[in-house]
Amino acid sequence: MSDSPQPDLVLKYARVLDPSSGTDAVLDVAVADGSIYAVGGNFDAPGSAEVIELHGNWLIPGMIDTHVHVGGDLDGVTDPGIGLRSVVQAGATTVVDLGGRMEQLVAGIKQHGAGANVAGLGMLKPGVTLPDDDPSPATVRNTLDTALMSGLIGLKMWGGYYPFSMDVTADIIAACNERQAYVAFHVGTKSSGSRLDGMRELPALLGENGRVHVAHINAYCRGSILPPAEEIAEALQILESLRGRVVSEVHLARPNFTRGECDEDGNVRMDVARNCLRLRDYETTRDGLRRAIADQYGSVVRQSPSGLSLVTGEAGVQLFNDADSLVGMSFPVNRADTAFQLTAAKRADGSFIVDAIASDAGSLPRNVNIEQALNMVRFGGLTPLEMAEKLSFNPARMIGLDKKGRIGAGMDADLTVIDPKRGRAVMSFVAGQMVMIDGRAVGSGGRLLITESGVSAANGYGLPFEVIDPGKSLLYS
Ligand SMILES: [Zn+2]
Repeated sequence: MSDSPQPDLVLKYARVLDPSSGTDAVLDVAVADGSIYAVGGNFDAPGSAEVIELHGNWLIPGMIDTHVHVGGDLDGVTDPGIGLRSVVQAGATTVVDLGGRMEQLVAGIKQHGAGANVAGLGMLKPGVTLPDDDPSPATVRNTLDTALMSGLIGLKMWGGYYPFSMDVTADIIAACNERQAYVAFHVGTKSSGSRLDGMRELPALLGENGRVHVAHINAYCRGSILPPAEEIAEALQILESLRGRVVSEVHLARPNFTRGECDEDGNVRMDVARNCLRLRDYETTRDGLRRAIADQYGSVVRQSPSGLSLVTGEAGVQLFNDADSLVGMSFPVNRADTAFQLTAAKRADGSFIVDAIASDAGSLPRNVNIEQALNMVRFGGLTPLEMAEKLSFNPARMIGLDKKGRIGAGMDADLTVIDPKRGRAVMSFVAGQMVMIDGRAVGSGGRLLITESGVSAANGYGLPFEVIDPGKSLLYS
């Protein structure tokens, strides 16, 4: 034992929840040099180690949020990185930015980073990251290569905002699959919408072998096409029919986020925003949006140095008018019953149909994974171990992180402490370093998770990085 590292941190007396081993017991976790050194009862800490007693708290493998937005928007309206503190405050230790650009992600981490691990997917936006909305297979592959070489781990299709044809969508998925890059999809093509009809296209888009991460399943079960209960049942059936080839998540927040942008004729551009208006019988026009905001159904996202907040009523209409409709918007369209059912749904063999809980938050003010998962535990919808499975173990497997998502010797010492009485995360560690205590982010910077192709670019970013292999993702297993 003489040449092995000595524990520098020992977390004692927490209820340790490790889904990988089925452990649910009060144990001590010793950390040395950024990794977990030992897990056991009554660990004898060396005098040099910091000891933290966690009576009454739960300890889960660090929360991994597979769907956040921390890179700012591509129009530069939102400050890059503004959400990096929020995700850490909410208990995350690793996040995946679902669709942005590497330069913005890097700039945000340097300016606002709070110590989390960050992986990013490249956003496919015609006119910005693609020449137009009908890219050739060669263009798609060049775009993917450029994204991977910049340090991103794959691509994200924003079907509810910038939809492609069925053929182009299928080709983008195929290109990512060929390279075993990560690929996430907010469903919807030019022939469907950001609704259940978008999900119905998945079998055709994936063909025999296609693989994809389907984002926020709850967003397609808002009752736009069928009664919500029927949409939930059909969405689960589609996922089940593609078992082993899709991974998916739900978020547990009521508000959604979209954009208010209207075209020169006064029509709302974004399919997501149009769906929200239709759900309450508003016209899908600039005036319809103004009325929805005045009625306090729609809210406008306001940016301040401390983060983003929601403004509704007349003050919201004012912001909307001042920005000539170019605002982020939110509607309370996500249903609690839908989120609950999609989160809890299991196969006959006991495995979850939807792999993970993710926030789709970050900069958006709804980083509620842990709070809401605890509510589900209180209600009996999840056991504490299942909660840890959905918040960390499955997310680690989704992106192919084999040293995260588990509490065991040799694993990365990424850990999240939850106070079940207060109903939230109260402490977390990344590689054994404390990054959050009592809801305050106390870390800085961040570690990039990149693929092998991104190493040469990452050497120039001035941030620590780690090479991961999305080919080890559940997507490709
Ligand atoms: Zn999103």
